[in-house]
Amino acid sequence: MSILRDVKRTLMPIYSGLKHVFLKPYTAKWPYENIPNLSDEGYRYDPKAGIGYPGNKGRHLLHMEKCTGCGSCDLTCQNIAEAITMTYGFDVVIALDERCYESFKESKPEIVEALDAIVSSFSAEPSRIQYNSLSSFLWTPTDIKQVTKVEGGYEIKLNLEPIFDVRAVEVLYQKVYHAVENLKTAGWELGKFEATTESASIELSKQDFTVKVLVRKIDMGYKQNKRSLFPSIDYGRCVMCGFCVDACPFQALEMTGVFELSATSKRELLYTPNMLAKRPEEFNITGIPPELNAIERMRMVFRRVW
Ligand code: SF4
Ligand code: SF4
Repeated sequence: MSILRDVKRTLMPIYSGLKHVFLKPYTAKWPYENIPNLSDEGYRYDPKAGIGYPGNKGRHLLHMEKCTGCGSCDLTCQNIAEAITMTYGFDVVIALDERCYESFKESKPEIVEALDAIVSSFSAEPSRIQYNSLSSFLWTPTDIKQVTKVEGGYEIKLNLEPIFDVRAVEVLYQKVYHAVENLKTAGWELGKFEATTESASIELSKQDFTVKVLVRKIDMGYKQNKRSLFPSIDYGRCVMCGFCVDACPFQALEMTGVFELSATSKRELLYTPNMLAKRPEEFNITGIPPELNAIERMRMVFRRVW
């Protein structure tokens, strides 16, 4: 028996090798068809049981309702790729006193000039964040959706989605820097400047008009994360090792089967917490590659059916 078993063991690899000599090589026509044996399941880790569930190590999925902002994932990644940054969500707001707001409604040139410069600077930077279309409503203030009456004046919020960053002053610098430069050459003077991690503001004045730009941290409303601090991931750096998933004590991070993350700019590879929290769409496999001949097309259709 043992001789038979040894002969079988010797012949099996030879048979296996010979079999492939007569098989036509098969190339998956991605992205027209899925890559075989690639599971849609993502990699997860259960910290209590200490078990990692096998799955693809593709784009992360963040469960914001579980994330406490502890930063374990960030700490872990610092030793690997420094792809994670803990970020707050911010709003950018233009604050006007009542007289300035009335002048804005009357389209007084000075105030329109200031707001125009701030809005142009704010929306100049390419980004996936959706902005208020201020260019259209600057001249029709009654249409402004995000104007809030506050004590002593009005506030106009510029962003529709939170702007995620490490500190408020970074957002102020990135979003308003060009406006400040342009307004200084137009005779506006820089006034009070204040900055902390959670808020930053700058005042600009000309004649008796004063315009204030404020950056304020948003309370995202999660009880377990009172600081509203969440990880953002730079896929230009991430090596998809999954160690951040292992390091999360609250199962707030998992990975998905999505590996299609190509982009045309580095900025598009920066995924904010809100982007990570959206479950990725499933692949939409349609169409047939134009270069295939009739037989290959038929084969591909059969592969899809079976
Ligand atoms: S999977 Fe990416 S983000 Fe997570 S630890 Fe590895 S390199 Fe960092
Ligand atoms: S994802 Fe997990 S490890 Fe990272 S900050 Fe949130 S709770 Fe902490």
